[in-house]
Amino acid sequence: MAKVGVSEKTFHTWKCALDPNNRWIKAEIIERIAVRVWCGLCTKHVDRLRGFCNFSEAFVNGIQESALKSDALAKHMSSAAHMRAESLESGPQPLQNILESTPIGNPRWTVCHAHTQTHRPVLVGTKLLINLSQLLNNVQID
Ligand SMILES: [Zn+2]
Repeated sequence: MAKVGVSEKTFHTWKCALDPNNRWIKAEIIERIAVRVWCGLCTKHVDRLRGFCNFSEAFVNGIQESALKSDALAKHMSSAAHMRAESLESGPQPLQNILESTPIGNPRWTVCHAHTQTHRPVLVGTKLLINLSQLLNNVQID
């Protein structure tokens, strides 16, 4: 019988070694067998990774069957495209900190959390600053 995946136990061993914080390795597990494994980060940022040097959609579509090896996961983790996805993921962090720690960002920030897309806080934050500047422009100074 053809091997269709790796045992859930083996998969967890890989995950603990390569992704202990549960940041990127995702799997489809059927009857305790990991049949397909993909990268959550590269999938999330795929639109910005396309056209990137050596970018392969293998870890977006998911690897399976004979391609499903810990070596492949380790190789993906150190690939340029994956590192780019990592930096895209952590990129908005400073702005998020600013928004959360200033009175300007706070009122809308709770709304932002309802959206999972990372660019939302940037757009909302920018819009807020524009609104603020419009508000200031409208203030009459006697
Ligand atoms: Zn990746």
